[in-house]
Amino acid sequence: LQEKLRKSDTLNIVGELAAGIAHEIRNPMTALKGFIQLLQSSIEEDHTLYFNIITSELARIESIITEFLVLAKPQAIQFQHQDIRKIMSDTIDLLNAQALMHNIEIDCHYPYQLPNAFCEGNQMKQVFINMIKNAIEVMPNGGKIEITIRYDEREQMIHTMIRDEGDGIPPDKIAKLGEPFYTTKERGTGLGLMISYKIIKEHRGRINVESEVGVGTTFHIYLPIQNG
Ligand code: ADP
Ligand code: MG
Repeated sequence: LQEKLRKSDTLNIVGELAAGIAHEIRNPMTALKGFIQLLQSSIEEDHTLYFNIITSELARIESIITEFLVLAKPQAIQFQHQDIRKIMSDTIDLLNAQALMHNIEIDCHYPYQLPNAFCEGNQMKQVFINMIKNAIEVMPNGGKIEITIRYDEREQMIHTMIRDEGDGIPPDKIAKLGEPFYTTKERGTGLGLMISYKIIKEHRGRINVESEVGVGTTFHIYLPIQNG
């Protein structure tokens, strides 16, 4: 138990440190991107290859930061009763362009009436961003992401499902999800789910994964409607 505790303490410190760094990297990144574009349009020699590498490396840094975006903002953490439908539709607005670029359609269903969830809005947005990003990345040839939000009366929880048509996850790998640095992607970070699991745990909610290899994956996120 001691060992376990120590491990999770370390994880918190690492998380906070990484979040702080991510925040600090943002501004210089924006400047870099701007000046590289200026440079590209002002020199005559063809350095397309170099510029492509620079641009793709910058995009990589940016995607790593995006996974920390919310935790990185030094803003007050505010737990409130909030409409998950609104948080989800804001998230979809944010990612829709990226999805369309990959030929992916995001559908979202929810009932007309839905209790509010007790949650931290920015953190929930972070969870949704990380999961929808994963869904996009797992369908390189396009497909559909189906999101359903419902109220589970028996559990008194808001139940959000995010389903993709990707390759699925082998049963023996499911337990690895949420482990820091677990990734099967050539250029993955293995941090997105770790952060998401941590956020949901802190909300006293839970995440279940249902997956079939070759068919797709559904992430189920349960969030309490009550405080405590
Ligand atoms: P990353 O996306 O950087 O790899 P994540 O923590 O977001 O890190 O995800 C960890 C791993 O979990 C992924 O590399 C992938 O193997 C698996 N995974 C997550 N979401 C999905 C999904 N929707 N379908 C299939 N595998 C997934
Ligand atoms: Mg990811």
